[in-house]
This record gives sequence, structure tokens and C-alpha cells, in this order.
Amino acid sequence: MATHAAIAASDVIRRRFTALGEAAGLIGDPQVRHRGTLGGSLAHADPAADYPAPILAFEAETRVLGPKGERTIRAAEFFVDMLTTALGPGELIAEVRLPAPPAGTGSAYAKFPHPASRFAVAGVAAAVTLEKGSVRRARIGITGAAAKPSRAAAAEAALEGGPATADRIAAAAAKAADGLTCLEDLVASAEYRAHLVTVMARRALEAAVRRAGGA
Ligand SMILES: Cc1cc2nc3c(=O)[nH]c(=O)nc-3n(C[C@H](O)[C@H](O)[C@H](O)COP(=O)(O)OP(=O)(O)OC[C@H]3O[C@@H](n4cnc5c(N)ncnc54)[C@H](O)[C@@H]3O)c2cc1C
Repeated sequence: MATHAAIAASDVIRRRFTALGEAAGLIGDPQVRHRGTLGGSLAHADPAADYPAPILAFEAETRVLGPKGERTIRAAEFFVDMLTTALGPGELIAEVRLPAPPAGTGSAYAKFPHPASRFAVAGVAAAVTLEKGSVRRARIGITGAAAKPSRAAAAEAALEGGPATADRIAAAAAKAADGLTCLEDLVASAEYRAHLVTVMARRALEAAVRRAGGA
């Protein structure tokens, strides 16, 4: 029942899960943000929804209640396909749990919005953990570009284990669309969407590294 407006205004989310607060604050318009909910958005699984990117980057879990009892679904298994989730008939999302990020983590969300609805044509959330200037952990979630949201595994691997320099961030972001089958519609060609993913990935990674205390 948490509305996008409540999530965007939450102090603890802004501080600890900045990318989630940013994504919530960029959804639609004030009317949509005061009516729409996190649970409703996740259950609906619109391929252009914003939340899946930070939900994947923070490795969130949903606690689900249904006729057969209770279970937990990890973010990586939650999104199945366009408008399709791992929820079974009669199952409700009761809770979304976000593990506390390690010390030294900064995060950010960057999106290219549809000019009318503000849905994500491409949206990228990045959570980066720095240790003595080196990237200990990088988590990157992508939404809007393909039928189902996903992690950018090649970009994460390219960034981890070395310094968070501008060159390494750019090189990692250039891999953010690797393996994606991008959607093609009136708004954007598949090629343009793939390009947008790399640009949004660079912006999100740069901001995440800054917030993690890097350059
Ligand atoms: C004009 C407009 C612009 C928008 N722009 C954006 C945007 O920029 N970015 C973005 O991400 N979204 C956007 N949205 C989507 C919006 O954010 C809503 O989240 C979305 O429309 C779903 O509405 P809702 O959250 O009220 O859920 P509902 O409409 O109440 O529910 C959606 C579906 O999920 C089910 N459901 C609801 N809650 C749960 C639950 N807890 N557990 C299980 N199933 C549940 C319902 O039964 C229903 O099938 C936009 C919507 C509109 C109308």
C-alpha cells in the first residue's frame, strides 16, 4: 500500500536506498504518485515501470501471502515476462524487503522518460560499493528497454575489482545493453533503446560512485 509519493518522501529510503527514492519521485505525475503503489506496480509488471530497476539493483525480496501460505520471491525470480510475474493465482505482495547495503554504498537511478506518460523508455539503477577507492560490488538493474527487467551482468563484472575511474565507468556502461533484446515501438527503435541504456547506465553509475564517496 506504500504510494510512490510516500516512498519518494521517505527519509530512510532517500538515505539508504537513494535509487529507489529517485525512481519513485520520477514516476508519472503528482496524481499518479499519490495513487499508485509499489505493490501494484510490481504486480502489474509493466515493462516500462521504474521500480524493477532499483528492486533488482538492491536485490530486494517480496514476501507473498496466498491460499497456500507464505513465501518469499527474490527480485531475480519475480519478473517473468511482459506483464507477467512469479505471483500465483490469489497471491498478494505483503511486503518488499530490501537488504541493508554494505557501508560505502552509493546508488542512483537515471531514466529517459516517455515525453507524455513519463514511463521509462530506458531506466537504469546502479548501487556501487567502494572500498579504499576500489569497486567492491556493483549492482545494475535495467528497466524499460526489454520485455522484462534484468541485471546488467557484463557491466557489473567490468566495474568490480578495480578503481572507480571515469574511464572504467564509461567502459562498464558501454556493456550495459549486452545480451538485451530491446523493444521496438513508436517511441524508440531497438537500437536507440540499447544506446539509451548505455547512456543512462553511465549517468547512474557516475552518481552512485559520487554518493559512495568516490570521485
Ligand atoms: C498516466 C500514468 C502515468 C504513469 N507513469 C508511470 C511511470 O512513469 N513509471 C511507472 O513506473 N509507472 C507509471 N504508471 C503506473 C503507476 O505508477 C501504477 O503503479 C500502475 O498504474 C499500477 O497502479 P496501482 O499501483 O494503483 O496498482 P493497481 O491498479 O491497484 O493494481 C495493478 C494490478 O496489480 C494487482 N495488485 C495491486 N496491489 C497488489 C499487491 N500488493 N499484491 C499483488 N497484486 C497486487 C491488482 O490486482 C492489479 O491487477 C503510470 C500510470 C498512469 C495512469
